[in-house]
Amino acid sequence: MRFDILTIFPEIFDSYFKESIIKRAIKEKFIEIHVHDIRKYTKDKHGKTDDIPYGGGPGMVMTPQPLYDAIKAVKKKNKGPTVYLTPQGETFSQIKAEKFAKLKEMILLCGRYEGIDQRIRELFIDMELSIGKFVLTGGELPAMVVVDAVSRLINGVLGDNESSKEESFSKKLKRKKEYPHYTRPVKFKGLTVPEVLRSGNHAEIEKWRKKHLK
Ligand code: SAM
Repeated sequence: MRFDILTIFPEIFDSYFKESIIKRAIKEKFIEIHVHDIRKYTKDKHGKTDDIPYGGGPGMVMTPQPLYDAIKAVKKKNKGPTVYLTPQGETFSQIKAEKFAKLKEMILLCGRYEGIDQRIRELFIDMELSIGKFVLTGGELPAMVVVDAVSRLINGVLGDNESSKEESFSKKLKRKKEYPHYTRPVKFKGLTVPEVLRSGNHAEIEKWRKKHLK
């Protein structure tokens, strides 16, 4: 799957995408992530990508020209939906991640300041997504959240294909619950792994897990 991310702070993505599962997913070509610097598209002689809002009010608004040119350029290579990360969008969820994981491509637009000029929303945006009822300083963390949640659902990205299917909020399990997990050592700070989980009795383990779903 190909992700194209538009941002005025491309470096923010460097460390996260260069570690662990996402790093491996890129290396093994399960996913491609292209981060584009919106500033590179501005025609403003001072390199500006924001301006004061018409009608007054606090904060700045991202100007339409650089966004327009950046999105146009990216759309030549990515035919997927253009998603704007915004607290006003539909709430992102595991079910949405499962749907996105079936796509071949998607474009993620990160806002800053008070957000983007409304005309860009009207011209390009297919979906608006929020990662929760709080306001962040920018859409970069939300874009990383979406890329991470979607990528790990793509076949092959997780070493064990099954491990993403039995998770909280998964459509397949139709439940929003998860049982407690333990690993070695058996004893830690006076707390012991329940005996049944070490018994090898799968029926009993299943029973215990059902009983402890949260
Ligand atoms: N004025 C906007 C409002 O009240 O909805 C908030 C803008 S916020 C300071 C700047 C940018 O951060 C937004 O354009 C958006 O891209 C991103 N953002 C902030 N919170 C978000 C959230 N919960 N989900 C998705 N994106 C968010």
